[in-house]
Order: sequence, then C-alpha cells, then structure tokens
Amino acid sequence: MSTSTQTPEGQKPLLIGGEWIVAPGAGFASVNPATGQTNYLISAATAEHVEAAVSSAWQAVRQKAWRDMLPHQRAALLRRIADGIDANAQVLARLQMIENGKVWSECTAQVASAAATFRYYAGVCESVTAEVTPPRGNYLSLTQYEPYGVVVAITPWNSPLTMEAQKVAPALAAGNAVILKPSEVTSSPALELGRIALEAGLPPGILNVVTGLGSGAGKLLVEHPGVRMVSFTGGTASGRAIARIAADKLMPVALELGGKSPHIVCADADLDAAVEGVIGGIFEGSGQSCVAGSRLFVQRSIQQAFLEKLLARAQSIRVDQPDAQGAGMGPIASFAHREKIESMVASAVKEGGEILTGGCRPDADHLAAGAYYLPTVIGSLKPDAYAVREEIFGPVLCALPFDDEDDLIAQANDSVYGLASGIWTADYRRAWRVARHLEAGSVWINTYKQLSISTPFGGFKQSGIGREKGVSGLRLYQQSKGIYFAM
Ligand code: NAD
Repeated sequence: MSTSTQTPEGQKPLLIGGEWIVAPGAGFASVNPATGQTNYLISAATAEHVEAAVSSAWQAVRQKAWRDMLPHQRAALLRRIADGIDANAQVLARLQMIENGKVWSECTAQVASAAATFRYYAGVCESVTAEVTPPRGNYLSLTQYEPYGVVVAITPWNSPLTMEAQKVAPALAAGNAVILKPSEVTSSPALELGRIALEAGLPPGILNVVTGLGSGAGKLLVEHPGVRMVSFTGGTASGRAIARIAADKLMPVALELGGKSPHIVCADADLDAAVEGVIGGIFEGSGQSCVAGSRLFVQRSIQQAFLEKLLARAQSIRVDQPDAQGAGMGPIASFAHREKIESMVASAVKEGGEILTGGCRPDADHLAAGAYYLPTVIGSLKPDAYAVREEIFGPVLCALPFDDEDDLIAQANDSVYGLASGIWTADYRRAWRVARHLEAGSVWINTYKQLSISTPFGGFKQSGIGREKGVSGLRLYQQSKGIYFAM
C-alpha cells in the first residue's frame, strides 16, 4: 500500500476505497511514443481488485454523507476538483504528453477543458430539477431522478482526461460512485484525477481508479453483477463486446464509438478557411480523434484547385517532438497503432489509392526512435475501398469528389458510422438542407471540431448509443422514479 500515485519502485498503484494499492506482478509498461522509452510501470488489476473496487464503491455510495449530500455541497466538491485540476495543470498535461504524444498546446487545452467540465456539472447539479407531471385526478405525481449506484467509466487513450472528466463529473453530480478504467496506454491522468478528487474531499470509495487491460480488468468490471451501468468511449468493436455483456445483464450502457466523418467543401466555400478547417479536422492530434474529418468530399469543379492548396498546407505541418516549439503534429500514440495505420495505407495503395502527400514516416534522424508518421492525403480511391470505409484513427485523409447535392448526401451517408460531419459553403440554405440530411450526431457549418460542454454529443448508427455532455450527460447516470401522493 502506498499514499501516492507512484511508488518508489516506479510502479503506479490502483486507487481503491481511498487507498493506493500496488497490484502484484510486474504490471505493464507505459511507453513514451515520442522516444520509445518506458515511462514507468502501471499496475494491472486482478479479479480481486475488481471485487474490492465494486464493494468499496457500494459501501461509499450508501454512506449518508454521500447519499444525502445537498446539491450545493456536491457542486462545491466538483468545483474543488476543478480547482485541483487547474492547480495541477502542468503535471497533468505532461503526463498526457509523455503517454500519448499529443503536442503540448493540445495537452494543456485538454486539461483546461477537463476542469471546465467539472465546473459545468457543478452548475448542472445545482440547477437541474425534478418534475411535477400533469395532474391526474386527486393525485400529485412527481418524477425524480436517482443515481444507479455504482457505475463504470471506461476511456480511450486519445483524449484521456477530457473523456474521463466527461464521464466522472456528471456521474458524481448524479450521485453515483464511479470506477474509472482508463486506457492501458494513458493510465496516469486518471490516477492523478483520483488523487486530486481525494484531496478535494471526495469521500474514499466514491472514485476508484482501476488500471489494466481491456480484456482483463475492463471486461471483469463490465461483467461484474454489482456494476449497474457502464459508460464507454472507445472503438466500435470493443463497444459491441461490452454491449453483448450488457445485454445478458440487462444493464444500461452509454457508448461513444468510432467514426469516419465526412468533411465537405462546396465550390462556393471560402477555400482558405476550408483548407484550415480540413487540416485541423484531420491532422490535429495526429488524426487520433473520434470526430476526425477523415473522408474529404470536394465539389468536382474545384477539386484540383482545392487539393493544391490543401497539399501545400499539409506539407507545411511540422512533425516533431510534442514539446518542440512550433510542432504541429507529434507522434502516433503507440508503435502498435502506427503499424495499424501503415497497414491501412498499404491496403489503400493496393486498392488503387494514390498517395498525394505523406504515406510514410518522417526521415529526420531525431525522430527515428519515436512512432512518427507524416500527414497523409490519398486520392483516386473508390468509395468502397477499405480505407474509405474503415476508421484509420491516424493522420490519413481520403479525398473524394462529388457532383451535386444528391450525390454528396448519398456518398456522405454511405458509412456504418455517423459521429460527425462538416460542410463549407457560402450558401446557408444549402448548409441547412445538407445538415438536416447528414446522418451524424454533430454537423459543423463553416467550422470544424467546435465542441461545447453544454451541447449533447454522440453518434448515429454504429458510432454509439446515448448522448454525453449537456443536461442529458447527467441524465445518462440517473434513472427516473415516479412518486404519487394521494391528496
Ligand atoms: P479501445 O476500444 O481499444 O479501448 C478503449 C477502452 O476500452 C480502453 O480503456 C480499453 O482498455 C477498454 N476495453 C477494450 N476492450 C474492452 C472490453 N472488451 N471490455 C472492457 N473494456 C475494454 O479504443 P482505443 O484504441 O483506446 O481508442 C480509440 C477508439 O476510440 C477509436 O475508435 C475512436 O474513434 C474511439 N473514440 C470515440 C470517441 C467518441 O466520443 N465517440 C472519443 C474518443 C475515441
């Protein structure tokens, strides 16, 4: 047992019931993708740890101190966690940077957004109301909202703290105890969040952080009969596996999954602004974003002119160490993931794709030990090519032409995914028509990747079930109860 998030031996412990516990065994390595060096070891939770986490979470959530906490007190606690995130912003940003390789400015922005999410849900917690439902005779009927009890939050590696805040803040605001299982690639921000929450005064056991593999601790947590709800963000295949277990348990799940989002440029668009939007949409975070605009549709009449500008801009992005001044793109988050990207690009070439830029690792000597990959644009692919249909989750853009609005909507919607989309046009009537016909949970018009914590977010089709953020983000973690008084 230890009292910090890192032991002297360098293995990070789990947080269960307010105690720091090093799991037996060597744990697994956290590797810096910018250098290939091991950062530290992370504890891999066993079935006993999962059992202990579920039982301490139930114990904590039943305590009067938590159960009967008044909304303004709970809100004050969430604000103290936000203050703790701000106070530890540099540490948190650095941990994310050395684990997933995002450039420093993105890491600091994501920490700030996590703090803002806790503040937002403090506000929701104080202001959200129960309902008096329409009277039916001599009865007073109310709908009130109650927590599930113990919920599990499972997060991916691309934006760890952002995703963790998006789940933990509303789940706590709703009155639950949470067991957080971060990605094995980015375990540390979650452990730090656990420490910050404890220091802010969150009762022990209300937030537990259980690190480990998805096929180990993750699966055990989802299967556990004491877990009443799972909120998952990650790949569609993992989401489907979780949904199968949930079906057997008849347990509610929220799933935020993958995407293959269409990014559309019409002939009348402000092309310079559109180039910037398309570049940010696919190359920010080295393309490892669920909402990455990875299928580019350009109206045929301007395709040549637009691609020329786009390629020049893509080639100007500096791929470098994530903390290097002026770095526009850091490495891919892991070496295994870079291999996956490389194999997807190879499959695109096999299917007739033409590499318009990138398509390989950078040749700079100082980047040779890291998992770097150049911004890549591929043309000449058929709409049914594997790389056009499947999520690559890397800095790879597939460029396709369209002729008219009907053709555009048919192509854009020809995907099993439906997470996000963007359209650049000067014609607001067209923007409105297209936005209404796109099968996507978010549509951006003359902008891309604008996200607001108060706007519900989630996917159509195989991009997910449920909506995070906004008031609906709190309701995800509650169940309604009807109460009737005879008058
Ligand atoms: P992943 O599905 O491999 O892993 C996500 C998390 O789930 C990890 O913590 C992992 O350990 C765990 N996990 C994996 N299999 C599990 C199982 N069977 N049971 C329980 N837990 C399991 O995803 P990733 O590679 O970490 O992240 C990339 C994916 O996440 C991409 O597909 C991306 O689009 C998606 N994503 C979606 C959103 C969104 O909001 N829709 C946001 C970010 C990332």
